[in-house]
Amino acid sequence: MKKILIVLLLCLVLAGCQKTELMESNTESSGVDPSIFKCPDCNVILITIDSLRVDHVGTYGYKYNTTPNLDKWAENSLVFENAYSPAPHTIPAFQAIMTGKPVSNDNRDEIIAFYEKTTFLGKLMQEKGYLTAAITDHGGLGGESPNGSFSATPIKGFEIFKSYAPESSSRKLTEESINWLRSNKNEKFFLWVHYFGPHYPYIAVPEYAHMFGFSNNSCGRIYNGMGNNEMNAIRASLTAQELNCIISLYDARIYNADKNVGLLLDEIKNLNLTNNSMIIIFADHGDEFNEKGRLFHGDSVYNSLLHVPLIVRNPYQALPSRIDGNIATQNFFDIISNIDSENIEFENEIFSRKYPFYRTDKYYDFSGDFVGKYSIISGDYKFVYEPGYNVEELFNIKKDPAEANNIYFSPERSKLKEKLVAWIKDKKAESSKPSENAIKEQKETEERMKSLGYLN
Ligand SMILES: [Zn+2]
Repeated sequence: MKKILIVLLLCLVLAGCQKTELMESNTESSGVDPSIFKCPDCNVILITIDSLRVDHVGTYGYKYNTTPNLDKWAENSLVFENAYSPAPHTIPAFQAIMTGKPVSNDNRDEIIAFYEKTTFLGKLMQEKGYLTAAITDHGGLGGESPNGSFSATPIKGFEIFKSYAPESSSRKLTEESINWLRSNKNEKFFLWVHYFGPHYPYIAVPEYAHMFGFSNNSCGRIYNGMGNNEMNAIRASLTAQELNCIISLYDARIYNADKNVGLLLDEIKNLNLTNNSMIIIFADHGDEFNEKGRLFHGDSVYNSLLHVPLIVRNPYQALPSRIDGNIATQNFFDIISNIDSENIEFENEIFSRKYPFYRTDKYYDFSGDFVGKYSIISGDYKFVYEPGYNVEELFNIKKDPAEANNIYFSPERSKLKEKLVAWIKDKKAESSKPSENAIKEQKETEERMKSLGYLN
């Protein structure tokens, strides 16, 4: 940051600086100062919104007014420009955030056995004396038991867990979260509210459906409520107009999620919880709109999926600020579990990976492809590695945020590949078998995911 300021000052003096000169490339990891998250005696309110792309949020520059409430909230918050998810889909992303342990191999049984032995964030906070609750309308994060119905569910460890079926308005989730806060505002608590939000299928509530360009008359084959499988079936032949119609329905769903988050934030203010709570808002991942030949999420490690909005309100950080350094949402395991401590620490380099979770096949993903897609972000660079397809790509994501220009021959590639391969080896889940109970829980979860339309 200092370097950029100096260049800016020089530019003012010389009055002729080109934009490219401002965008000096940084080969070293540029991170965030962990001390900005220090918050002694604070409650923690974590609000996550599923599938919300960073570039569809107003405060990050989106052209439409999709998020008026988040934008207003961001005016008095820490807004992180470069936050990244550890995974391109919900359960692996939250597993990493709720355990601090992103295992990277493709053997489902080993992963389940590994997480069975892990202490989840909810449990850790319980042990520190917090009342813990998780409320969601995702529907696939676990059953109605205190520990979820899934040995590796991110919900595991929360004392109170409420799960509602997804509904397009999300009102039930908001009402329940508000009621919970009213009843427990005097406790020391950790509350996680997860909105299904703009997650597919893009069924927009009728009053918002037309706000961002969708129209029954001009959207060709696209209609409000069309399933994601149906959209995927015509993906390759979508016209530009049809693709815009899909995006406009997605935007309408974002608008609804923002409305709900706004109601929740208003109540947090009314209850004076902003004075003694750290309030963290981020998305688990984004969605793809055919930029790399895919729709929706789960099957790549490109930034349409990994780059996410992150907005934090910390009562100990008085001034609003835009923060440039790279940060992984996975770091919130360390941040939340050490919120009282002088020594919050985390890595500046960001590792992400996708792997199959729901299928019974050990080594194949949803589409039957050989799995293993990984990335590392360090400084301005990102290396994408898909060993099953011989894909190795290097991008300067500050100069090329669309990841359109593979600078494969740049010397940074071998350095980042070496670090990423070492990370993959280091994070391999130990080879062990899950317990009978874990297998039973996993089967129940797979049935749940099927009922939600995730699995065939
Ligand atoms: Zn998700």
